[in-house]
Amino acid sequence: MIVIMEHDATAEQVNKVIKYIEDKGLKVQVNNGETLKVVAVIGDKCGLNIENISSFEGVREVKKVQEPYKLVSRITHPKDTVIKFPNGVKIGGLEKPVLIVGPCSVEKDFEGLLKVAQAAKEMGCHFLRGGAFKPRTSPYDFQGLEEKGLQYLAQAREKTGLLIVTEVMDTMDIALVSKYADVLQVGARNMQNFKLLKALGRTKKPVLLKRGAAASIKEFLLAAEYILYNGNPNVILCERGVKSFDTQFARNVLDIAAVPIIRKYSHLPVMVDPSHGTGKKYLIEPMSKAALVAGAHGIMMEVHHNPDCAMCDGAQSLNIDEFKNVARSLNKLIGRIDYDNKNS
Ligand code: PEP
Ligand code: MN
Repeated sequence: MIVIMEHDATAEQVNKVIKYIEDKGLKVQVNNGETLKVVAVIGDKCGLNIENISSFEGVREVKKVQEPYKLVSRITHPKDTVIKFPNGVKIGGLEKPVLIVGPCSVEKDFEGLLKVAQAAKEMGCHFLRGGAFKPRTSPYDFQGLEEKGLQYLAQAREKTGLLIVTEVMDTMDIALVSKYADVLQVGARNMQNFKLLKALGRTKKPVLLKRGAAASIKEFLLAAEYILYNGNPNVILCERGVKSFDTQFARNVLDIAAVPIIRKYSHLPVMVDPSHGTGKKYLIEPMSKAALVAGAHGIMMEVHHNPDCAMCDGAQSLNIDEFKNVARSLNKLIGRIDYDNKNS
């Protein structure tokens, strides 16, 4: 943190700032520039009330120079986090990006889910997604099959070997969802459900944390910080678009720049969900490519065996043939990117 003094601040005013800081047990370093006098604060600033200093006479501005997140920051942890699954699959760092594929929600038709899972397997994907607990905007919409849905996902895993990604919406359900899932998803609507984040921090399961629809990147990273701070280092971030004034052509604005930004400031893996990010299936392929070229560690996309009849998000879901074409094209791109030479 630095305290920038007014150009005409008196020595007395500067000394008052220095004394205030030193009385808190911190050290200061004073830089007497030609026009500005800056007091840099060195040490743990937990007990320091910044608001107080900014109202001191002679103080122009108080600025935090360090990021507010610590455990997710590259400064404290320069090496990329790579999440390793028991079957050898890895997410993050220089590992090849993964594809997470499946319907928005798990539905009654298990055979339909299995068809999607088999297609995903055939295309070399490692993860099957599907919501059993659905965070729906309207209480009248399909809310998910709950435990039955989790059982279907587990059965699909048994038949295909794919790992399961599914959402947990409530602290009360963490134990149940963990029984079936390989990755616990936190949806955009729950990104700032701090009780849920803290509870997930006390588990060891990898957590896929989706960006809130109106969350800044800083808020997104601080949400992840809650999980790490509470003891779970296995967090994968997922950009899924943010709300904008223009909803005519796309459901959200997919923030592709968030990928290199997050990789610059954090060591955590970051993925992109172009399905929710755009709401349009024709945008899934181009946005997935853009995300991969930008450095995404994976893509999550919605695929349904019969999108016209899907209980949720049919318009943004690829059918199986469309998915295979997209996967073929993404696999080709992944094969062409030289991951070993990427900055990590
Ligand atoms: C989902 O992935 O199933 C979902 C509901 O997405 P989001 O939380 O990003 O809206
Ligand atoms: Mn969906």
